[in-house]
Amino acid sequence: MHSELSNCRICPRDCGINRYLQRGFCGANQYIKINIAQLHYGEEPCLSGSRGSGTIFFSHCNLKCVFCQNYMISVEGYGREISEEDIVQTMLNLQQKGAHNINLVTPTHYTIQLISALQRAKTEGLTIPIVWNSSAYEKPETLRLLKGLVDIYLPDFKYFHGVHAKKYSHAPDYPHYAFESLKEMFHQQGRLELDENGIALKGVLLRLLVLPEGLSGTENALRKIAYELSSEISLSIMGQYYPAGEAGRYPELSRGITQAEYKKVLDTALDLGFTSIYAQELSCSDFWTPRFVRR
Ligand code: SF4
Repeated sequence: MHSELSNCRICPRDCGINRYLQRGFCGANQYIKINIAQLHYGEEPCLSGSRGSGTIFFSHCNLKCVFCQNYMISVEGYGREISEEDIVQTMLNLQQKGAHNINLVTPTHYTIQLISALQRAKTEGLTIPIVWNSSAYEKPETLRLLKGLVDIYLPDFKYFHGVHAKKYSHAPDYPHYAFESLKEMFHQQGRLELDENGIALKGVLLRLLVLPEGLSGTENALRKIAYELSSEISLSIMGQYYPAGEAGRYPELSRGITQAEYKKVLDTALDLGFTSIYAQELSCSDFWTPRFVRR
């Protein structure tokens, strides 16, 4: 029993509901629910390496973007509930299969349960780095609970303007929380550190999803990060947007991004002095999206 779940204020939604009886905005109850756990080769090279990243895709989400590429699990909630003991075993199995890391995808709404699962997994022999792969719509005080348990923070900064965060994710306060969370992550783990084979060991790798029509405000986000935090943060500039989920209902979101849009963001990052940058070939497809299970 986790007391924090009986009046859930884990994330900025601040639902204040009892997850043993109800579901909040995220859709999750007291049980961890996952869709798939597998070795994944589509992450940044420092995470996927040659043996794959041990990714665990959690069902439900506290942000629920209308264009989500994992819509089937984030919004529709497909997956299976598992016990804390099962999630520990899942992590240990991925380590045994050779995963370079354990990559927790969309974990925010399960932070409390994952803290005790990670503590337990570590006592049972989990030694590879833990990756917190989140939307960054988190409370810094919740992230502080993860200190010493998470090695690599992989936040995905989605919006600089509250008006867009409101329209596409019902979260007008997203820019504030995402920036404050990034500060806490950088404070905890600092710059990205790689081993001699280029595999990430610890630190922050900031993803920036570039949306069409400048909707993500990525250039402004980069300016704020460079001026108010640090240009030493490693960046992964994501050009893989394609209209998924309900994006078709929004004409401005109904296409992938152009080379020019992507290049503008990349040039801005370089002009601002960021030197550690993962850039992508543009691909408006779901090639790297896992095949989720409808159950
Ligand atoms: S984790 Fe879920 S229930 Fe808890 S505050 Fe966030 S959205 Fe609400």
